[in-house]
Amino acid sequence: MFTDFDVAIAGAGPTGLLLAGDLARAGVRCTVFERRAERSGLTRAFAVHARTLEELDARGVADELVGTGIPVSELRIVGGAALNLSRLPTRFPYLLVTPQYETERVLEERARLLGADIRYDSKVTRFTGHQDVVEVEVREHDGLPRLFRAGWLVGADGMHSTVRKILGMPFPGKPVVRSVMLADVRLAQPPSDVVTMNAVGDFFCFIAPFGDGWYRVIAWDRHNQPPESTPVSLDEIRDVTHEAIGTDFGMHEPRWMSRFHSEERQVPAYRSGRILLAGDAAHVHSPAGGQGMNTSIQDAANLGWKLAATVQGWAPEGLLDSYDAERYPVGKQVLRQSGAMLRVVLTGPRSLVGARNLLAGAATRIPYTARMLADGASGIGISYRAPRDAHPLTGKRAADLPLADSRRLYEALRDGRFVLVGDGQFPPNAMDGYSDRVTPATPAAPTGTLTLIRPDAYTAWAMSTTATQGAPDQRAAEIRAALARWCGKPARTAPQAVASR
Ligand SMILES: Cc1cc2nc3c(=O)[nH]c(=O)nc-3n(C[C@H](O)[C@H](O)[C@H](O)COP(=O)(O)OP(=O)(O)OC[C@H]3O[C@@H](n4cnc5c(N)ncnc54)[C@H](O)[C@@H]3O)c2cc1C
Repeated sequence: MFTDFDVAIAGAGPTGLLLAGDLARAGVRCTVFERRAERSGLTRAFAVHARTLEELDARGVADELVGTGIPVSELRIVGGAALNLSRLPTRFPYLLVTPQYETERVLEERARLLGADIRYDSKVTRFTGHQDVVEVEVREHDGLPRLFRAGWLVGADGMHSTVRKILGMPFPGKPVVRSVMLADVRLAQPPSDVVTMNAVGDFFCFIAPFGDGWYRVIAWDRHNQPPESTPVSLDEIRDVTHEAIGTDFGMHEPRWMSRFHSEERQVPAYRSGRILLAGDAAHVHSPAGGQGMNTSIQDAANLGWKLAATVQGWAPEGLLDSYDAERYPVGKQVLRQSGAMLRVVLTGPRSLVGARNLLAGAATRIPYTARMLADGASGIGISYRAPRDAHPLTGKRAADLPLADSRRLYEALRDGRFVLVGDGQFPPNAMDGYSDRVTPATPAAPTGTLTLIRPDAYTAWAMSTTATQGAPDQRAAEIRAALARWCGKPARTAPQAVASR
């Protein structure tokens, strides 16, 4: 069946842009349609968590993004309780504060460099899904509708997703907080804490630095909740800040002020035939914890290689459906956690605030709970379901091992393939027919395990090599079974022995 491109993506937000880059890197023909006339200059999200930075590292763009922001290794939660991120087991033991437009810029430049076609002033208005093609109607800058044929359509078109609505996919949930004020300002007397947050009685305030003299302020007053169309005044924000924190830090020169509300919603399925949903189109939740953009980018990181494998015809049975099976529960968990965090932060009666602060302080001082909280907030703790008898590493985030060739694992992942990591030589012929999808690698120091790392830096499969040291045949058979399970059928090429690097 003739198609104009393999994948059409609606929306050039962080989700659509990361996905486009991954598809283009794999050689898939993809086009992003964005209804805006140009790149967004809005700073909606400003927190990039460690796991997202790791995913960007596996694409070679994390260091550039880190250079645009300010790393924050301690989060002040409520009542002086602080969450320490500096001990996270990652290259990025912090939260990066940088405007969303920087993340989008870095992702767009990468996607274009890799060959993705990104078209602004192009709104997806209709589509019809058929058995082997999706017809997508796009209204371009001249206002005329044009019809394109794509193999797949991804709705990465945000909270009010046109794709989701045309699909008729429900988006059940409820509003959680109304009339939250937001401003980007300068401060005459900046706070000494890098991120400052507190809630007292009916008032909540959060302040974070962008690192260039501008600060993001989020303020909320339980008893003053006008409609979102009501303009925000700096005095309102000053007053709430004063009530919640005890000073307004000499706030002045607002460059952006807005009022927003937040909802908790999630679609029941991320796939319907040849249509997929990702990012805010599939889930939205409270801003507490700054998870929206992070979860969205990680959706795209999970989907990209699976969709590429499907387009290229090597995806094993069920691989594309595992996108929904893996990401739906993560979205659900984020909804639950950010909702709970919001309720804790906005605890109303002053009589309960003391108990809340005490509990928050205790939770962040006990090493086990502090680590759980830090893993949860940073995304480092995300893992995917594994079969009951699988090796304990299966489904877990891959640690960024140093490799014998002096690269790191996340550098070895940058070409978008699986990486098979094992000590010493792999059994002869174990990787025959997979050299187009799998890169062999040797860790700098022995690990006693063989691991197959997915392109999105999670462990697909692992086995202990100490248990089977004297049995190369068994090891080869297990490797081939794992490759068939994750990487599909071997290519029909002349057999060749592959030595690990
Ligand atoms: C005030 C605020 C603060 C936030 N802070 C944080 C934070 O600190 N950390 C965090 O992780 N998240 C935060 N978020 C959430 C974050 O901004 C979103 O989760 C993120 O932008 C989702 O990315 P996305 O690509 O899925 O959707 P979007 O960024 O919404 O992108 C969707 C794109 O699709 C385009 N589009 C829509 N319809 C069509 C159509 N029919 N055809 C073509 N294009 C279309 C839109 O123009 C848009 O560019 C915040 C949100 C707000 C509002």
